[in-house]
Amino acid sequence: MPTIAHYHRPPDLDTAWQLLRDAGGSARLLAGGSDLVLRCPPEVDTLIDLSAAGLAGVTRRADGSLTIGAMTTFSDLLAAPAATDHLGGLLHDVLADFGSVLHRNQATVGGHVARARMSDLIPGLLAADAEVVVRTEDTRTRPLADHLAAPPGAHVLTELHLPAPPGPAAGAFTRFSRSAFDHALLNVAVVVHLDAGVVHTARVVIGETGVLGRRLPDAEAALTGKPPTPSAIDAAARAVVAGLDPRQDALASADYRRHLAGVGTRRCLQQVVARLGEVA
Ligand SMILES: Cc1cc2nc3c(=O)[nH]c(=O)nc-3n(C[C@H](O)[C@H](O)[C@H](O)COP(=O)(O)OP(=O)(O)OC[C@H]3O[C@@H](n4cnc5c(N)ncnc54)[C@H](O)[C@@H]3O)c2cc1C
Repeated sequence: MPTIAHYHRPPDLDTAWQLLRDAGGSARLLAGGSDLVLRCPPEVDTLIDLSAAGLAGVTRRADGSLTIGAMTTFSDLLAAPAATDHLGGLLHDVLADFGSVLHRNQATVGGHVARARMSDLIPGLLAADAEVVVRTEDTRTRPLADHLAAPPGAHVLTELHLPAPPGPAAGAFTRFSRSAFDHALLNVAVVVHLDAGVVHTARVVIGETGVLGRRLPDAEAALTGKPPTPSAIDAAARAVVAGLDPRQDALASADYRRHLAGVGTRRCLQQVVARLGEVA
């Protein structure tokens, strides 16, 4: 950790943004600090603690959409039925085994998304069509996928929006790792919207070490316009295996990751079908 000469705890978002903008590259926002304490660049001498800026909390709106404040910890998210019920339990799947209890008490959703590295949450958020709200000189809302692809720049991530599904919908998530505490070798998130018993929209997202989350359009097409039967699920899982070009590293071969992606897709879709049975 570099020597920190200035510590600020702004009382609101406007002040947080102004402090960040005025400090240039020598400042970092401090959320849970779990990542920053390990990877703070040497030029940083100023921390801007967001804990008093009013950015925590989970709200379900009347239309069924969900808003998650950037400073919401994973424990608070896991304790919020509005979040864990959304899409039949997608976020519960993500968070139930996420890190440790100590880590979930500390780490925040905003810090996790802003750090933008290997992630169990981002595939789930991409499958849920999440949008991020970002404060710079103005306030912008944009799809999470666009936010992740945008060039880096100073900003305060203020909240995430998960839109209401247009009809009966459910999601599921699974991860594969060598031990419960290791980073995932690969993870899978799926969301399916039904219309009159057939799949109206499907999102199949695979995340792996080094890749935050990649949609598999052929797998989504294999589901769309059909009832979510075992044969449609099988076709989607085969499309994932055929369409994925995973990395190979010391932990797993590309072939093994491809195999895991097929297994995970099948498992998630079976879970989604069970959950759709409950909401139908
Ligand atoms: C022990 C341990 C276990 C873990 N287990 C998992 C796991 O199982 N699955 C998984 O996916 N990840 C895991 N992680 C990664 C973890 O989730 C992240 O470290 C954590 O979410 C970061 O959040 P934070 O609030 O601590 O961020 P911080 O460390 O405070 O900040 C991270 C970065 O984001 C910036 N930042 C923070 N808030 C904002 C904001 N609102 N707007 C813009 N920039 C901001 C900071 O300046 C910093 O650069 C683990 C990490 C640890 C240390």
